[in-house]
Amino acid sequence: MDCIFCKIAAGEIPSKKVYEDDMILAFHDISPASPVHILVIPKEHIPCANNINSNNSNVVAHIYEVIPKIAKEQGIGEKGYRIVNNCGEDGGQTVGHLHFHVLGGRNLKWPPG
Ligand code: 5GP
Ligand code: ZN
Repeated sequence: MDCIFCKIAAGEIPSKKVYEDDMILAFHDISPASPVHILVIPKEHIPCANNINSNNSNVVAHIYEVIPKIAKEQGIGEKGYRIVNNCGEDGGQTVGHLHFHVLGGRNLKWPPG
């Protein structure tokens, strides 16, 4: 399958890794939208939020358990951060492998527009 994030998870495409375990991987976004911009992905190919179900939602729970640790390590735990999951065309999804953006390091505007 021609999926860029599967290739990153397999180590076939290099990334600036910040966290890895058997289920998930976190790395710096190649085009950061804020001073800290980390992507957290399941190693398993899940296309987007529409494909989360009772068989795979444990990986999403795990991602949400790990994100606060990553945020703390990146120095944004206290001031705060935003977790973004884009789904589909109108959601602004450009890579069809479920991923969570962790954005911080500046005051993020809301609503995003
Ligand atoms: P989306 O728009 O799908 O929510 O987010 C995809 C994100 O992946 C974008 O922020 C984009 O900068 C990032 N991205 C795309 N290709 C690569 C890559 O090869 N390496 C890394 N580290 N990030 C990527
Ligand atoms: Zn994939």
